[in-house]
Amino acid sequence: MLDEIIIRDMEAFGYHGVLEEEKELGQKFLVSANIRLDASKAIKEDICEYTVDYGMVCKRISEIVSLERYDLIEALAGRIADMILLEFVPVKNVTIEVKKPWAPVKVSVDTVSVKIERGWHDVYIGVGSNMGDSLQNINDAMEMIQSDKRNKDIKVSDKIKTKPYGVKEQDDFINCAAYFKTIMQPKELLYFLQDIEKRLKRERIVHWGPRTIDLDILFYDNIILQDDELIIPHPEIIKRDFVLQPLCSINPHFVHPLYNRYVSELLNELKSKKDYEKTI
Ligand code: AMP
Repeated sequence: MLDEIIIRDMEAFGYHGVLEEEKELGQKFLVSANIRLDASKAIKEDICEYTVDYGMVCKRISEIVSLERYDLIEALAGRIADMILLEFVPVKNVTIEVKKPWAPVKVSVDTVSVKIERGWHDVYIGVGSNMGDSLQNINDAMEMIQSDKRNKDIKVSDKIKTKPYGVKEQDDFINCAAYFKTIMQPKELLYFLQDIEKRLKRERIVHWGPRTIDLDILFYDNIILQDDELIIPHPEIIKRDFVLQPLCSINPHFVHPLYNRYVSELLNELKSKKDYEKTI
């Protein structure tokens, strides 16, 4: 359970909107923020540094509303949420509501508003490479993840050498897993990782064939999600010892949300299967 600091209907003047009049004349905006954190230490010690300076939050919101310009209040709300998560370290999760009291609609309304929730999420990814300098490719990919300010607290498992899975006539792989926290939404994270694959010149010629780098989202908190582009948890986890073993070295007690079992149990079960084919 998290504690909450609440800022309600903070007024600021800005120039956000799709219409030319809104961009030129500006209007009043009302911003509310529910900022969630663990305040136990601040409660016990009664010291400001263990919590969030809400005066500073208001100042930063006010600067964003008055100095930056967005067509959509969705974009403005997203920018404010990211700023709070990135600049105020104890914050775990935030809900932002941006209201337009003078919204240019041709009927009488009190306000029009958008409300979004953003937070830090725990992510595990699987990493593999068997083309070029595999160790360097993996290190470069980890560096690209770490150097993006939307990610933090990265932990990379030991790297292991593995026999190819699927298409056998190719070089051995180097595999590892990584954990980090991110403020990206699942799809945003998928595109971010695909962009790293592109930047490292991954060539997608043969399915399950050679690649300079492969980055798969294994878990994202404990969400279960499936659509045309993204399946979380990654469906191949339980069949692959080269995924489970590095995962276990980071966190053997992570619970797979579909099977409700520790990843260490899933690795042991895989190894005990009759037709288990060792790739490590
Ligand atoms: P691969 O060649 O194994 O990297 O597969 C890439 C394709 O799998 C992409 O088209 C993704 O949209 C899709 N995909 C589905 N679920 C995931 C996931 N959890 N992580 C990464 N890619 C995924």
